[in-house]
Amino acid sequence: MEKFNEDEIQKKIEEKRKRFIENAHRALGFYDQNMLSPGGEHKKRTEAMENEFNKVYDDNEQHARRYDDEPAKPLILAASKNPENVINSPSEEKQANKQIMDSADLNPDKVSSSGSPQEDSLTAAEKEQELRNKPKTNTTNSKSQAITTVTQTPEIRSQKSLHKNLEEEKKQPFNEALLTKSKKSKKDKAKLVKAKPSELYEEDASPVQNRFYRRGDDSLPKSKKRKKFVVNTRHCRQERETLQYVIDLCRWYETTSIGEGNLIWYGVSLRDCDIDIIKSRVEGKSGNELFFNRYPGSELLARKKILCNIMNRMEKYFGEEYEFTPLSYMLPEEEDLLDEDMTKYKDMWYIAKPSKGCGGDGIFLINRITDIPRWHSNSELLVQHYITDPLLVDKKKFDLRIYVLVNGLDPLECYFCNEGMVRLCTELYKAPDRSNRRLKYMHLTNFSLNKNSSKYSEGDDETGKNGNKRLLSSVLEYLEREQGLDPDKILEQIKDTCRKTIIGLIPYLADFARISINPNIDQLRCFQIFGFDILVDKKMKAWLLEVNANPSLNMYQDKELPNGDLERTLRDLDKNLKSMVMQDAIQIVRSKSSPDSYGCFEKILPSKDPFYDQFFIWEEARKIFERLGGVKSPEFISSSQFQRLSKLRGMTNGKIVKAHYDIMYKNVVNRSDSKLMAMEHFFDALEVLAAKLFKKNSLYESLNDLIITVKDQHI
Ligand code: ADP
Repeated sequence: MEKFNEDEIQKKIEEKRKRFIENAHRALGFYDQNMLSPGGEHKKRTEAMENEFNKVYDDNEQHARRYDDEPAKPLILAASKNPENVINSPSEEKQANKQIMDSADLNPDKVSSSGSPQEDSLTAAEKEQELRNKPKTNTTNSKSQAITTVTQTPEIRSQKSLHKNLEEEKKQPFNEALLTKSKKSKKDKAKLVKAKPSELYEEDASPVQNRFYRRGDDSLPKSKKRKKFVVNTRHCRQERETLQYVIDLCRWYETTSIGEGNLIWYGVSLRDCDIDIIKSRVEGKSGNELFFNRYPGSELLARKKILCNIMNRMEKYFGEEYEFTPLSYMLPEEEDLLDEDMTKYKDMWYIAKPSKGCGGDGIFLINRITDIPRWHSNSELLVQHYITDPLLVDKKKFDLRIYVLVNGLDPLECYFCNEGMVRLCTELYKAPDRSNRRLKYMHLTNFSLNKNSSKYSEGDDETGKNGNKRLLSSVLEYLEREQGLDPDKILEQIKDTCRKTIIGLIPYLADFARISINPNIDQLRCFQIFGFDILVDKKMKAWLLEVNANPSLNMYQDKELPNGDLERTLRDLDKNLKSMVMQDAIQIVRSKSSPDSYGCFEKILPSKDPFYDQFFIWEEARKIFERLGGVKSPEFISSSQFQRLSKLRGMTNGKIVKAHYDIMYKNVVNRSDSKLMAMEHFFDALEVLAAKLFKKNSLYESLNDLIITVKDQHI
């Protein structure tokens, strides 16, 4: 095992400290368009701002005051933006694996959980709660680091083989059926095609028959009664064939001409040039149907650290209602804090994930700080409490891929897909310990990993029954039959988690959209299918693991062959589910009636239950920001625009006067590059204002009072 001497350790600690301070400084700078200000950063800034505010306040010989806020919930510090944080290069990994093989640490560990009496008297849930409620402070404890990893196979895609397969696919019946039919120019004629319905599609018109899915809902007008609907597949990626299948099924038209069509489908995040096209199409709207399947910035919001920070801010205001993301630590900034908690609760397990990773790449389980591989000391890692008691199917761990359709931000319209995909591990599950912590087929449910296991099984072609990838409906039936669990209750928990997550994301999606495409977001014409990764534990709590802005809608199951080629297998399970999700989503988007349900989708927002209204507090704050900036300045507000708040009834008192708004504005913008106030800064300023003007029992009540005060007044 690699040993560190004292000097090296000391040097390492110093380096970490330095990095931590640099990150903290960066945290005090304000958000730019590429990186949202995370919640921890936000808290730091709020505190710093409050300190400065109080300082000026004192300097002005006014009363020095302390504001007795609620004890702070654990918050996270800023995410480092260091682009050099490349994680797990194959050579590093190879090297590390070699070291593991050489290391004594490979042997199953003899370490027992030598908990303190205090620790042992607490249940896991109580420990988790204690940690959640503990304000985060930084310690300088650090330890030497041993090297360990979970090996990953880098996914290399062979374009050659992909093209070959696509060509072959084109020979199949439904692509043969494409006929040219267009009034366009000769050049475009070749690209605008209409499907001839083949028997295959008639037969497949109800792809998935299960207890949730009801096709044949006639609440929407039939597509044939409508105008020609043209879908642009030019920017599709792996989902191209699925979309083409849906186009054929619905007898729509397809084009690949740049910027053409009623629906432009983007298979990856929007580039600047895509946004330009969208902008020009939105501005030059001809009254035709026009849709884009993405919100700008959505992929940033789905990044692990950013999502975690947004959810943390919600948790700060709504407590246990938002305790559905596992307790998290940002590394390297919070390594000492993690170390402290690990030392205190020795039997707790954690999962470490590279912030920008996907497909289970670079993920490993730890329960000591020294389990973090040495090469990760510079990387951005998100370390989370490991959920040790997941529900099991056939004694295997599984997670759920849930599809959520966002179809409009203001007014908000959001649908939940009642059918989804379940990904099962290929090894029987055991609670993590030192001997099994590296068994990725036991702990990680990613399909991209497990498909490489020799134990991977396909199961039933349509439902995946008995296999490692199954339909949600089939798993819910199993849980009801075999474990007596109530499927409706499980679904309700999942919906609740999805609803709350979307509510947390809405202000940021709306802010990005206003800045990037159109300040009037009711004219956006964007929608998006998000993939939520959910883990359900034995208490039927639905934990949010990840939000995927680009969920796989590929109807092929791709497998990399030893020679590097890509083998593509068409499976009914994928084809039926994903085409159904796509088709029903597009039908809802095209519908003018905003149906309560359609096909596999059910509307979850706006909710009929007024309970969810409270969670829109930051969206209400964003709307105030929007009113202050207007269409002319969607990105920032100026000092005078901000100071308009001080003229409103109830927004000043004996202690807070107009001049303080000026100070507050300067305090905020002085730390940003832009020198103007962005939405995130505005949120920080509102928090401080709310705490000073409306001293209520909770942060939520104070902010709510402020929102109510401002909402009905003319700004
Ligand atoms: P990736 O984006 O790389 O797939 P995820 O966050 O989805 O990363 O994690 C990969 C897998 O690890 C999940 O599918 C799940 O099986 C497991 N996992 C992730 N976080 C946790 C957690 N907090 N507790 C238990 N298992 C987890």
